[in-house]
Amino acid sequence: MKPSAFLALQDIDSSLDSISHKRPRLPEVVAHQQATAELAELRARIAVAQQRIDAAVAAIEASEHAAADLTKKRTRLEAQLKTIIAPREAEALLHEIDTINGQRDELDDQELAALDEQGEGEALLASLAADLPARDAIVEAAAAELQAVQLALDAEVAALHAQREEAVASLTADDIALYERVRKQFGGVGVARLEGSHCSGCHMDLSPRELDLVKAVPADALAECPQCGRIIVR
Ligand SMILES: [Zn+2]
Repeated sequence: MKPSAFLALQDIDSSLDSISHKRPRLPEVVAHQQATAELAELRARIAVAQQRIDAAVAAIEASEHAAADLTKKRTRLEAQLKTIIAPREAEALLHEIDTINGQRDELDDQELAALDEQGEGEALLASLAADLPARDAIVEAAAAELQAVQLALDAEVAALHAQREEAVASLTADDIALYERVRKQFGGVGVARLEGSHCSGCHMDLSPRELDLVKAVPADALAECPQCGRIIVR
């Protein structure tokens, strides 16, 4: 039994834990998320601008259709007017033509407003779309940076796993079971170092008497921190 083998295993596992903890919080992850969110927002604004244009174009078409219908109706009425002699009927027809002209004016106004709207939408779309290549490039660069840092961590993890296999090979099955038990019990760090009179697990200073108790444990046996109960290695 070598207490230092416990410590070696603990150091490896602590490094692995620290990498797992660090991964989702990397500044590169945050930067990539932010760049992706900004790109998504830009695309959403582009979609809204496009919808605005589509709605304006649809309104223009509707106005033109309605105007064409009215023109047809007016042409018919005007032809009718030429065949009518009775002044009363002629008056009624003229009144109807007047109403149609009023409706056409209204449609023309609506179409002009829709044309303005289309123009504004197109200008907005153009200015938003102009930002797109730069935003795309930012996301791509952030993704590349993130990938590089992830790959470096993957390599670190692979090296730690290789070291862990070696460390585990130097321990018996009982030792490993004990190690895993205390690691779980103490939330990841079951084996601590004695640094002077300080326990690296609970960060408490041991009293001289406690220190003597720890030091009295034979070098090939496992001592326990009197403060926290972790395995403590001198
Ligand atoms: Zn302790």
